[in-house]
Amino acid sequence: WQARWDRAATTPDAVGRKWTHRLIPNLARWLAKPTLVLTYHLTQALSGHGCFRSYLAKRDRAEDSYCGYCMDPDDTAEHTVFACPRWLDDRARLTDILRRPPNAGDVEDILCGPCPADLPDDTESRRRVLAQFAINRREFTAMCESILSTKEADEREEQRTDDRATPGTNDEERSDSPR
Ligand SMILES: [Zn+2]
Repeated sequence: WQARWDRAATTPDAVGRKWTHRLIPNLARWLAKPTLVLTYHLTQALSGHGCFRSYLAKRDRAEDSYCGYCMDPDDTAEHTVFACPRWLDDRARLTDILRRPPNAGDVEDILCGPCPADLPDDTESRRRVLAQFAINRREFTAMCESILSTKEADEREEQRTDDRATPGTNDEERSDSPR
């Protein structure tokens, strides 16, 4: 199934799968990882299907693929989670831990943890490595949660503003105008 996983990522129109494959190239590692709770927002970050303008525009649920915060022309999951300057604060804790900003290449290690063969023999060192893995995984999940929940709330707010600005609701506009 590793071959099928590789093939699935290269078929046309597999934008989401391609992204997931980049994050998790080794399916065996993913399947062997310690139990992971896939929250709604973590799933969005890993699948690329969610509150990303690039994805929404392809499904006619957004006018264009521009990021609403920094005007990057392609608001993908990678842009939102790892690049957009709007979420620097949300990445701060993981950036501290890694001593550099996280990127897509970190996700497999962060979520799947160390391969058993790479673990140190010494019990104490092994315990430390596994404890760090647990922290990194928790921080990554928390980062996706905070970025995507804020982004969704902003999106809802924007939707409400758009609804108010549609024709037929001019009364409100008039009453707001200066005397
Ligand atoms: Zn942006």
